[in-house]
Amino acid sequence: MQRTLALFLGLALTAGITSGCAAQRISAEKAVAQAFISDEQEEQIGAQVKKELEQKEKIQYVQDPAIMEYVNRVVTPILRAANKDRKGVKWKVHVINDPKTVNAFATPGGYLYVYTGLLLAADTEAEVAGVLAHEAGHVVGRHSARAMVHAYGLQTITQLALGKDPGTAAKIAAQLVGGGALLAHGRSEETEADEYGARYAAAANYDPKGLITFFQKLRKMQGDTPGVLKWLSTHPTNADRIRHLEQYIAQKNLRGTETGTERLAPIKKQLGGK
Ligand SMILES: [Zn+2]
Repeated sequence: MQRTLALFLGLALTAGITSGCAAQRISAEKAVAQAFISDEQEEQIGAQVKKELEQKEKIQYVQDPAIMEYVNRVVTPILRAANKDRKGVKWKVHVINDPKTVNAFATPGGYLYVYTGLLLAADTEAEVAGVLAHEAGHVVGRHSARAMVHAYGLQTITQLALGKDPGTAAKIAAQLVGGGALLAHGRSEETEADEYGARYAAAANYDPKGLITFFQKLRKMQGDTPGVLKWLSTHPTNADRIRHLEQYIAQKNLRGTETGTERLAPIKKQLGGK
């Protein structure tokens, strides 16, 4: 059965690639990812990526339990909503102590990373929620797993699935971190993550427009603080992106009453912000 499936998906993948249609290729790669990369394998790669980040990128985690508790409280209802779309993800949230970097990202296996710099750049809790919900959307959409299929091809992914080469996950993780493939997603996947993000933020009763105001703020900050806005560099934002998100929110009638400004303010102070 698995061989037939592999053959079929291989053909689909080849057809998608040779037809030159990006949307078709992406959906073929996604089908391969879904069929061959199990939750356990994603988890295995995510754990390896974490090790790589700690050793090579020397990331340091926030130790202050009040900050951790704050982030967990924001993210928990969001992840509950995300789990309705993709069951079986065991989310792990890490706060990176780096006040100068405005960034957040997700890796396979449901690992979410958020930098203290992003908390400091946000004006409302709804903005933080919007970014984290967007990142959870990348996990639900299996975007990293899809990118892995794209980068390594069916053969390597099948090897990973069959567990033939125990070093495959480690090799993939090392290259993911080294090559920056972790962070860059295609435009269609960004749109998908924006939509998931707006839905999950609203499900957690946050104003779903938090992601929009955060995008607008980063665009304004761009000129003053080059190199700091990592999230913006992997999330190119133009008027179209914002318009699409506004239309989606209106169309789906998404709403939430919380902005949470008063809860974020003391956290920012504790992090040394204004
Ligand atoms: Zn994204």
